[in-house]
Amino acid sequence: MTPLLRPIEGLPNRPLAETLWRQGWYRFAAHQMSPNFGPRPPQAHIDLIVLHAISLPPGQYGGPEVQQFFSNQLDWQAHPYFSQIKGLKVSAHFFIRRNGELWQFVSCDDRAWHAGASSYRGQSNCNDDSIGIELEGLEGDLFEDAQYESLRVLCAALMQRYPVDYLAGHEHIAPGRKADPGAGFDWLRLEKNLGLEARYLPVAVRANTHAKVLSSDAFKR
Ligand SMILES: [Zn+2]
Repeated sequence: MTPLLRPIEGLPNRPLAETLWRQGWYRFAAHQMSPNFGPRPPQAHIDLIVLHAISLPPGQYGGPEVQQFFSNQLDWQAHPYFSQIKGLKVSAHFFIRRNGELWQFVSCDDRAWHAGASSYRGQSNCNDDSIGIELEGLEGDLFEDAQYESLRVLCAALMQRYPVDYLAGHEHIAPGRKADPGAGFDWLRLEKNLGLEARYLPVAVRANTHAKVLSSDAFKR
């Protein structure tokens, strides 16, 4: 007698992470390949997500300049500010626009060029084993609800696929040299959105958050 319940044949039985990712490319991002990348070191343990802020020219949103910059196609003559970054060859894995739109330039399996001289959790050269996410914005300024939402979904997908143990800003991995995303980025909101334990966040952020909670407690008493 044929059993009523039997395994359904022909349906894919793949873990969710595999359907979201193809060779390091995220399914729900617009893809534009950057030439600015290289291989990761063998056995790289990709345990760090680095957040940045960028806009070109600074403070102007919605144009194609960041994508052009990461693709070595920016017209250096188009704005006086561009002379300051002329010839730089950089990239990030992801770029999240003010409206939450998500772009990917480099496979997460490869090494993007976003961190520069950097050190975190006892390891230098953070490009080797991190994933770089640029938020369209201005260092120190606020970010949009749509960006937090897009970032939440992306980080959740990254954490399913890679052994992420740390989230930090460029300012935390290159202190003194870099200051993005800056004080306008709400780390506590990201932590809550992702349901993370505090240990994932930079010590500086945790100390700051803890101080805020303490002072608000004191205020109540
Ligand atoms: Zn940065």
